[in-house]
Amino acid sequence: MTRPIKATLDLSALRHNHGVARSHSRAAHIWSVVKANAYGHGLVRCASALAELTDGYALIELEGAIALREAGLDLPILMLEGFYSADELPLFHQYQLTPVVHSLEQVKMLDAAKLSLPLYLKLNTGMNRLGLNAAELRSALAMLTRLAITDITLMTHFSDADTTLGIHDQLEQFNSLRLGHGYPVSHANSATLLRYPECDGDWVRPGIMLYGCSPFADLTAAQLGLKPAMTLASELIAVRTLAAGERLGYSGTYVAPAAVRVGIVACGYADGYPRHAPTGTPILVGGRRTCTLGLVAMDMLAVDLSSMPEAHVGTPVTLWGEGLSADEVAASSGTVSYELLCAVAARVPIVEV
Ligand SMILES: *Cc1c(COP(=O)(O)O)cnc(C)c1O
Repeated sequence: MTRPIKATLDLSALRHNHGVARSHSRAAHIWSVVKANAYGHGLVRCASALAELTDGYALIELEGAIALREAGLDLPILMLEGFYSADELPLFHQYQLTPVVHSLEQVKMLDAAKLSLPLYLKLNTGMNRLGLNAAELRSALAMLTRLAITDITLMTHFSDADTTLGIHDQLEQFNSLRLGHGYPVSHANSATLLRYPECDGDWVRPGIMLYGCSPFADLTAAQLGLKPAMTLASELIAVRTLAAGERLGYSGTYVAPAAVRVGIVACGYADGYPRHAPTGTPILVGGRRTCTLGLVAMDMLAVDLSSMPEAHVGTPVTLWGEGLSADEVAASSGTVSYELLCAVAARVPIVEV
């Protein structure tokens, strides 16, 4: 017997969600964002599943990009933070990776290496993390012209496509920065694509929606027509009844108010389940909804079985996925589904349905 926890991947759901992205993106090409091990779903597995559908892959990690090439995937690859030092540039050339260039320091590295690559120039329009301002854009374009680099796409990233602030101001800033330059553009993440499909540009960059989660607090994945690509499931490994006043787990943060039947699930924060999930976080036992009780420990968590007399050792438990969106578990835990998916631990076996 092995420990019963596993993450089941439904690659047809991934492909379905890519179709939803496609249906929102008019003529734009799609970078499937597969950073962070495809948001915890397995990089090469997901990239291969999308190979016939998508137009390119976007990620952060150079080793990941090389792994895609070594797996025989030959679609364009966009490196979302570009390169960190000039030493990496020969690899960008060798593996045909398109860097995002977001600083003049990077342009100088290109100049020193005398390498001509297609590239993305990232403009800062209000996120204020990475990106060039108007004067830097002018210097960058002058240097790139000297290097005979002409295959350039202008990109930016929106900070509030999912909030009430929206993208209007940043889009206006982007359009004024790129004025007079006829380069293709890319600015839509999942939230932009779903909420402002008219702003798809030449290339869109959906991430979270491919995995079947919602980028919005007020719209569920199901309402957006998305299906969960991952189901994190385990089983009850113990069942007991607490008497009134008995404490449960570390620090006794849950004390039974009356006799309560509880189940112990083989899943904890070392599997990637959020330790901050409070008592009351939704969970499915035998396909029915109940909630967690007490503190999540490293390897276990507890669930309320008061209304489930039929539950027993071995009853299946869904932490998130089919029937319970990771978005709901994340909201209960004060975070976003992105963090939950990316945190699924290496000790959790991934199986495909
Ligand atoms: C991660 C990332 C995306 C994808 O964002 P989602 O919200 O997951 O769709 C798009 N663009 C850039 C630059 C990113 O870093």
